[in-house]
Amino acid sequence: MSHLNTFPLSFKVKGRRIVIVGGGDEALNKVRLLAKTTGSIEIYSRRIEADFSAIAATIHERALRAGDLAGAALVFVAAEGEDAELAKAEARRLNIPLNVVDVPAECDFYTPSIVDRAPLTVAISTEGDAPVLARLVRAQIEALLSPGIGKIASLAGGLRHKVESLIHDGPARRRYYEDLVTRPVMGVAEAEQLLAAHIANGRGRGLVWLIGAGPGAADLLTLRAQRLLQQADVIVHDQLVPAAVVEMGRRDAERICVGKARGHHSFSQAQINALIVRLAGAGKKVARLKSGDPMVFGRAGEEIAALRKTGIAYEIVPGVSAALAAAADTATPLTLRKISSGLVMATAHGADDGELAHWAALAQSGLTLALYMGKAISAEVASRLVAHGAAPDLPIGIVVNAGRADSSSYAGSLAGLAAGAVDFADGPAIILVGRAIAHGDWASAAIVAASNIKVA
Ligand code: SAH
Repeated sequence: MSHLNTFPLSFKVKGRRIVIVGGGDEALNKVRLLAKTTGSIEIYSRRIEADFSAIAATIHERALRAGDLAGAALVFVAAEGEDAELAKAEARRLNIPLNVVDVPAECDFYTPSIVDRAPLTVAISTEGDAPVLARLVRAQIEALLSPGIGKIASLAGGLRHKVESLIHDGPARRRYYEDLVTRPVMGVAEAEQLLAAHIANGRGRGLVWLIGAGPGAADLLTLRAQRLLQQADVIVHDQLVPAAVVEMGRRDAERICVGKARGHHSFSQAQINALIVRLAGAGKKVARLKSGDPMVFGRAGEEIAALRKTGIAYEIVPGVSAALAAAADTATPLTLRKISSGLVMATAHGADDGELAHWAALAQSGLTLALYMGKAISAEVASRLVAHGAAPDLPIGIVVNAGRADSSSYAGSLAGLAAGAVDFADGPAIILVGRAIAHGDWASAAIVAASNIKVA
């Protein structure tokens, strides 16, 4: 194992002087970083060249004098010349930690890359070896930490004495803090309620996150969805959510598939409602993971009603719906000036005479249609639209496994689709219908023609 040549620590600067020698861009960069602190920033330079106006700092536009460094907590030298040499000598004489910008050999310390969620900070350092790598790691950590996490840290800090006086058992205290920091950001009153619940039952109330998982590619998950998956005790997911996404949860989280997999017991909607209510009722944080967006053909309405009825807290996290992924895969604008002034997301189910109003409205809307759950009945869907007045030459495009690496597409007209000769790949599909479809890039799509050719 190699050893560290530097030791990361959090240095107290509140109310203390931080001296920067230099008036150019390098000085400004340091000052920007230091302006995040409650230290009192002083800049010394014979000439101020950069624009420091947006920063709360005292600027001395003059030569540095020997006494200027007295009592400073840190000294940064971002200049060359006489003043710089004096600053270095004085800092060393007074034992003030010194940073000389871009001269590692003369530095007592380096400034790490910082993820700032005050009071929570993450510092990333490569001891100066690879600043670019440090920046990359920083961006990754930025994405992982919710913007509100600093507020939670302050909240926990503010409650510390109270928690210590009320919960004496160490592990129980830890359970409270864990519960507190993995919930959506709350105020003091709610945090105290949670504390009361922990004292009474050893746990807080559960809650349910209805999370959109997107069309099935792990990197089409939102950052929020990813974060909440990491915080959930139980992940209740549909069959359509691929394993790679379900795997993004905490390793020790319980996982329950409620989808209709062949050979598996599948849950009725009522059973799913009862399941999430029971889990949250037992104090669990439940991630209810659904494909695409939870509010689009996701039966979210029923689950929300069940949660409301039982008074269980819930939050909804949107996801990329399949129609949007299909449009992206094929560079198809769903709305297009003068061609299509809107998008209808509709079910293709019930392609029977009982749904006449549904089909008439779709056929005559003049808008782009994105039809869900229609693959197995695509020929009937097309015939039904034509029967209700849609033009037989209206362009259609179908994307199977939209948003995923193995997506495949099919393009043609309503008449071609009605002929029913398409041999689709396995997987869920979105049927897009409308004039705007012709403006997409369907060059690699299989052709759906009326002449009954079998498309491989
Ligand atoms: N809430 C989901 C829809 C669930 S209903 C969403 O917003 O996308 C299930 C239907 O969604 C499937 O029958 C299919 O029509 C569509 N679907 C889901 N994932 C898909 C994908 N990756 N590619 C194409 N269609 C998909």
